[in-house]
Amino acid sequence: MKVAVFNTKRFEKPFLEAAARDAGISLTYLEPRLDATTAPLAAGHDAVLIFVNDVADRASLEKLASGGVRLLATRSAGFNQIDFSAARELGISLAYVPEYSPNAVAEFTIGLILTLGRHIHEGHNRVRRADFSLEGLCGFELRDKTVGVCGTGRIGTEVVKLLSGFGCRILAYDDAPSEEVTLLASCVDSKEELFRYSDILTLHVPLMPSTYHLIDAAALSTMKDGVFLINTSRGGLIDTRAAVDALKNRKIGFLAIDVYEEEASLFFENRSSDIIADDTFARLLTFPNVIVTGHQAFLTDHALRNIVETTFQSLKEFAGGKPLTHSVPAPSLE
Ligand code: NAD
Repeated sequence: MKVAVFNTKRFEKPFLEAAARDAGISLTYLEPRLDATTAPLAAGHDAVLIFVNDVADRASLEKLASGGVRLLATRSAGFNQIDFSAARELGISLAYVPEYSPNAVAEFTIGLILTLGRHIHEGHNRVRRADFSLEGLCGFELRDKTVGVCGTGRIGTEVVKLLSGFGCRILAYDDAPSEEVTLLASCVDSKEELFRYSDILTLHVPLMPSTYHLIDAAALSTMKDGVFLINTSRGGLIDTRAAVDALKNRKIGFLAIDVYEEEASLFFENRSSDIIADDTFARLLTFPNVIVTGHQAFLTDHALRNIVETTFQSLKEFAGGKPLTHSVPAPSLE
């Protein structure tokens, strides 16, 4: 079986190489991300592996299909970058990694809250400049706060579990709340209620048409003044321009994001010598009460091992003509 790996990252290559050796599968490592112009690079391969910011739209999928690709597997939990209907029409099977380490993202989320809420990043920078002053570094304690968790699936549930150790009041909102969450959090019936009462609001719903710009100007206007917003899910959940306005008028008191709606043209590469043309992103970086990380919440050794293990399970099932355990679910009609 011949498999092309789009968007290969150096950090994952040792894990991929070891798994390919064990499975006797031949991998072709490609640096570019998948889009309609790079899709022909996969001609002659049976399967392709993609990542979060590859573009698996109809145009890309048509070129993959005409080159003989019959399986597309994303090395991620999110699959919003894939045109499900086009893949189905073209006979391309789809696989993903539903759960590689919810803990990795949940722990990172808590890390962002503590870092920004206690100004740890600023304290670190000051000490490195031999500035040992404490002015401006006064933080808050989580036990005094109400934390809203929006989406309590695999990751949101882990966030709730971790938060429960801090003694804060936890509110949770999900279309289908799990029993485990109801034991640790107060489940509210609407996102409006969650937005109204949360001092800190962390997003863990997937990006879908119904959740695109879930946090827009109207939603922000219903939140507490000085709300602390965290997004480690997908950038498209937040209308970034509205967030910039809300930072300027102090509606948002803290913003911590690991994902950004236009991240595809920025993240995962060293752009330190480039001119950043995205003014909204550049403006975000000027706020002292904003932390941006480059989609790294998933990045642990545990997660990388699990991503590769599940991806190879899909490849082996496909090669053996078996049904895929981790096939991408059909989108809901919402
Ligand atoms: P999941 O499918 O287990 O959970 C999502 C939850 O959201 C479900 O419980 C679902 O009922 C709920 N939900 C869906 N739509 C909703 C809505 N409109 N309102 C309220 N609840 C809604 O997914 P997960 O594994 O917890 O991952 C969540 C997201 O995190 C993924 O979709 C992915 O985009 C993102 N993610 C980011 C990283 C990263 O590195 N930053 C890594 C992994 C996953």
